[in-house]
Amino acid sequence: MKQSFYDLNYSDLEAIINQNNLNRSAAAVLFNWHYKKKETGQCYDNIAKSSLAFIENNFDFSLPEIDLVHESTKDRTVKFLFKLKDQHKVETVLIPFNNKYSICLSSQVGCAMNCSFCFTGEQGFKRNLTTSEIVGQFLQAWRWLASNRPGEERILNIVFMGQGEPLHNFDAVKKACEIFLSQHGTSVGVQKITISTAGYIPGLKRWSQEIPGVNLALSLHSPFAEKRNELIPINKKYPLDEVLAYIDKIPLNKKQFVTYEYILIKDFNDTADDAKKLGALLEGKEAYINLIPFNSFPGSRYESPDLDKIEKFKEVLDTFKITTLIRIAKGDDVLAACGQLNSKN
Ligand code: SF4
Repeated sequence: MKQSFYDLNYSDLEAIINQNNLNRSAAAVLFNWHYKKKETGQCYDNIAKSSLAFIENNFDFSLPEIDLVHESTKDRTVKFLFKLKDQHKVETVLIPFNNKYSICLSSQVGCAMNCSFCFTGEQGFKRNLTTSEIVGQFLQAWRWLASNRPGEERILNIVFMGQGEPLHNFDAVKKACEIFLSQHGTSVGVQKITISTAGYIPGLKRWSQEIPGVNLALSLHSPFAEKRNELIPINKKYPLDEVLAYIDKIPLNKKQFVTYEYILIKDFNDTADDAKKLGALLEGKEAYINLIPFNSFPGSRYESPDLDKIEKFKEVLDTFKITTLIRIAKGDDVLAACGQLNSKN
C-alpha cells in the first residue's frame, strides 16, 4: 500500500530520499510543489525522472474529499464536511476576518472528552485523524477558496479548535504543525498556530517540549470545580488548579501567548461571582480571555446570556486588568460556530 505523502514532515521525506539515493533536491522541490504552490497532480518542477518515478510509485497524494459546503449568508463563514477514506466525516471551518481567513481544523473523528456544551462531545470518540487528514483539511479549504473566491486564498491563522481534543492526538497534530511551519512548504509563522485544549495534562507536557512557540488556548469555562466538572468532565482527572499551575511553569516565547476561553452560559457561569473568581484566578498572568456566548445546537441544554449580562461580566474582569474580548459568533447560522460541530452520519 502506498504511503500518504501528506503524512510526512520535511525530515521524514528527506530521510526517504536519502535512503533511496534519489535526487537530493527532491524533498525541497516536492514540498514547494504541494505545499507552497498547492498543486495537486504530478510535480512538473525540476526533478529527476528516476526520483519522480519513485515518488509516484510509492506515495499516495489523495486528500479528504469535500462532501458538503455550507456558506454563511450572514458573515461568509464556510463550513466543510469532509469524507475520509473509511467513510467517517469531519468538519472544518473557514472564518473570514479583514479579507483573510482563519481555519479551524479538526483533529479527531468525534471526541472522547464529552464536554456538555459541545455538539462534538455528544458524538463520542471514533478515531484519531492522521496527519494527512489534518493537513488535507487545510489544503482542500485553500483550493476551495482559489476556485470559489479567487484572490481570497489567504489562510493566515490555523487553530486546532474543531472536532476533537488535539493534545489527545498529539503525534499527528505535532507532525501537521511541523508541515505547516516548514519553510519549504506553507511556511506559516509559529505565532499563527493555536492549539486548544480542555486541559489534558499529558498532552500539555508534550506541547511545551515538542512544539515550542505554538500558542495555547485553554477551555476554562468555570473557575469553580463543580461547574467545570459538569462542563468538562476531564476536570475530575486533571483539575483546573493543576492545569493552571503547569501552564504557569512553561516559559513562553516573546510572541507566544495563552488564551483562556470562557463560554458564557445563561444562569450557569455568568454571574458577578463567577467573574470575580475567574478574575482572581487569572490576575497577574499574561492572560487573554475570550468570552464566547454559548452557541446552541439541536438538543442542547444551555442558553446564551443577554448581551447586557455578557458586558457586565466583562466589566468585572476589567477591574482585574485582564485583556478580555467578547467573541461574537461567526457562522452560527450554519452550525459552524464554537461548540456546534458535529459530523455524525
Ligand atoms: S469542546 Fe473540544 S474537547 Fe470538549 S468535547 Fe468538544 S471537541 Fe472535545
